[in-house]
Amino acid sequence: MLQENQTNWAGNLVYSAREWLTPTTVEELQTAVNQSHHLRPLGSRHSFNTIADSPDTIVPLGQLNRVLALDRERGTVTAEGGIRYGELGQYLHAEGFALPNLASLPHISVVGACATATHGSGDGNGGLATAVSALQLLTANGDLLTLSRDDDRFYAAVVGLGALGIITQITLDVQPTFDVAQVVYLNLPFAQVAAHFDAIFSAAYSVSLFTDWQNGQFGEVWLKHRLTGEPFAAPDTFFGAAAAPGKVHPILGLPTEPCTEQLGIPGPWHERLPHFRLDFTPSSGAELQSEYFVPRRHAPAALAAIFALQEKITPHLLISEIRTIAADNFWLSPCYQQPMVALHFTWQRNWPAVAQVLPHIEAALEPFNGRPHWGKLFTMPAAQIHPHYPRLADFQQLRRQLDPTGKFSNPFLETVLG
Ligand SMILES: Cc1cc2nc3c(=O)[nH]c(=O)nc-3n(C[C@H](O)[C@H](O)[C@H](O)COP(=O)(O)OP(=O)(O)OC[C@H]3O[C@@H](n4cnc5c(N)ncnc54)[C@H](O)[C@@H]3O)c2cc1C
Repeated sequence: MLQENQTNWAGNLVYSAREWLTPTTVEELQTAVNQSHHLRPLGSRHSFNTIADSPDTIVPLGQLNRVLALDRERGTVTAEGGIRYGELGQYLHAEGFALPNLASLPHISVVGACATATHGSGDGNGGLATAVSALQLLTANGDLLTLSRDDDRFYAAVVGLGALGIITQITLDVQPTFDVAQVVYLNLPFAQVAAHFDAIFSAAYSVSLFTDWQNGQFGEVWLKHRLTGEPFAAPDTFFGAAAAPGKVHPILGLPTEPCTEQLGIPGPWHERLPHFRLDFTPSSGAELQSEYFVPRRHAPAALAAIFALQEKITPHLLISEIRTIAADNFWLSPCYQQPMVALHFTWQRNWPAVAQVLPHIEAALEPFNGRPHWGKLFTMPAAQIHPHYPRLADFQQLRRQLDPTGKFSNPFLETVLG
């Protein structure tokens, strides 16, 4: 099927593929892989760069979105490779189960999110990929390879940037469903964050700080408390910040309808862990996003370095968010074997202006071993990224074994991975 002017969610990218094939079965997907020279799997199109693009063929996986099995004994769920967190979350909650964590919105596909090391927040929470326990990978020669945690290659394939093949099935750990109460506080001084970083980020199951880098403060603190069955009462203040008297959007003043419930009102995990509601269909956002990870031990110094760039950043910024992520073992994860803090930037959709600012942020974070989110916009050269990935050579070797002709490659991967 030939389709023109297909864009990503944000509308900042027109995919360049000349052919779009939308498989409804794994057999159709295998045929597409066998017949194409170059093809890329596409999730829910929420990446901001060309990671999912293809000069040749794109295969959107949205129609392969069924739940295949719920194993109550083992505590796992298996789904097809195009399912989104929103659909899966509703299904799991109805069955009495939960995932440990979610990203800021539930509309993203599970496999696409894990492929780029997407994360939520929380001291005890790794990125979303840490819930994956097994997968089925369609490789370049049309074979289906099953990988699980006892196979070293699993740690390459989950956060695999779509470079090793197409994930047709994914199995995730689940746990009994739980409730969360979300409370927002306003105006937390940076001095408090610098002095009490660990206490602040361990104060709830998931913690997010929002700032526009002005006035030396974080305008909002979102605390997502995991409820235990005991009565929950949120204190009126948090490290000097006052509880918000009403519901707020991360960008103060914007309508709050798209946001998940706040004010300490308890609700199920899948309706509180994301910042945005599934049933509120987001228009394609007129925004761009960038995000950088630095080792958690550098967090106060890295934040101070970015506050110092406020005059360059703020004119082009909608909002920034700070989150923490536990260490994991995925070869291409920015959180490989060390806990990280993530500094996120939602920009106005003005790429020429943003492209001027990013090198300043990247230079400021270089002393702290900063590295970019794979699915967002960055200008950092590959040579600056590679030293942070000690298993990159192993990943490239596995890639050559599984995909010797570069069927799943594209210019983004060639530039970034080398
Ligand atoms: C509004 C918004 C909010 C966001 N919030 C967060 C957040 O809270 N935390 C965070 O870390 N990131 C966040 N992101 C970034 C987002 O999670 C990533 O860009 C993620 O990759 C998007 O998933 P997707 O399914 O849309 O992937 P796509 O952009 O469609 O694809 C991403 C990659 O996954 C690969 N892929 C997709 N499906 C498969 C498959 N079945 N097999 C193999 N490879 C596959 C693609 O080839 C590509 O390389 C956000 C993005 C937006 C637009």
